[in-house]
Amino acid sequence: MSSFIVAARIREMLRKWLFPLFFTFLVLVSCSDEPYAEYELMMDTQCSITVYETSDRQYIEPVFASLRAFEEKVDRFREGSDIWRINECAGLCPVEVDSEVFDLISMAKDFSLATGGAFNPLLGAISDLWGFDRIEHESLPDEGEIAKLLEATIIDNLVLDEEKMTVFLADSRCRLDLGAIAKGYASQKAADLLSSYGVDRAIVNLGGNVYTVGEKERGRAWTVGIQNPNAETGGYFTTVESSDSAVVTSGAYQRNFSFEGKTYHHILDPATGWSAESDITSVTVISPDGAQADAFSTACFVLGSEEALELCASYGLGCLVLTSEGEVLRLGC
Ligand code: AMP
Ligand code: MG
Repeated sequence: MSSFIVAARIREMLRKWLFPLFFTFLVLVSCSDEPYAEYELMMDTQCSITVYETSDRQYIEPVFASLRAFEEKVDRFREGSDIWRINECAGLCPVEVDSEVFDLISMAKDFSLATGGAFNPLLGAISDLWGFDRIEHESLPDEGEIAKLLEATIIDNLVLDEEKMTVFLADSRCRLDLGAIAKGYASQKAADLLSSYGVDRAIVNLGGNVYTVGEKERGRAWTVGIQNPNAETGGYFTTVESSDSAVVTSGAYQRNFSFEGKTYHHILDPATGWSAESDITSVTVISPDGAQADAFSTACFVLGSEEALELCASYGLGCLVLTSEGEVLRLGC
């Protein structure tokens, strides 16, 4: 194995495991009580749940179990999962899905419309073409192929039947990808479950999709560190306050590769099928709705700073933008 590949693998490990771990730490140090955290690898990332009362520790495992079950349904690469079946039947027939999955896909469609298409859950086939998870890239995807697949990503091709609880991809070239919304949805699901057990202070962190349960202490919100995209070893450049809300960040630094001197990253512009070129380095959205925070953070990245702030303002959401010029813009946070 060449030293280049070894270095790339080490960088990949740092990105996948150490950065999220550090991120969790930032949340923990901002709390004065004894935190207790458990970690698990799921949804292709490091996840943690932190509680602050000894008696609350017993609830962590049932919450992880519920997240595992959720992942089995929404992992599009897992044979037999709901999303896998929808994709297999693209252009052929509607697929009956679990009610929670139906709920998530309906939200995805709504958010796609709400963001003017900047968030688009039908980009799966184009993401596969790019292969951002691959370590080596010997060429770029064919422009003509991207253009052909792009024709199929019109959101009307996502056909939902609420009564029958079915999902149909009306074009055989479509592939549903919930990668930009599922973790935010799951973080809130975990938070809601913890609350239903009577836990009133906890932090759920699914690879940087944070959900803060309750308040740090009476009348004082939690402080969440926002990762510095330029620091190879982690670190944060600022913080935001959050109580009973999701704090979700999207950035070009999270999954990318370089080819012939240019960097290509995993957030695609649905108008072109190529990496979104925006004036944003990272954008954080704060919302009580975890799925919304996740979908909107991805959309905001595509839209660029001005439209991102306008979009969040129109929905009453908190937003923090780090521009490529290094400027930090804040809205309601
Ligand atoms: P996030 O990290 O939440 O911003 O989501 C990025 C992931 O969502 C990517 O890895 C793709 O799987 C998928 N994706 C990329 N671009 C978009 C987009 N414009 N709308 C919806 N999903 C996207
Ligand atoms: Mg997202």
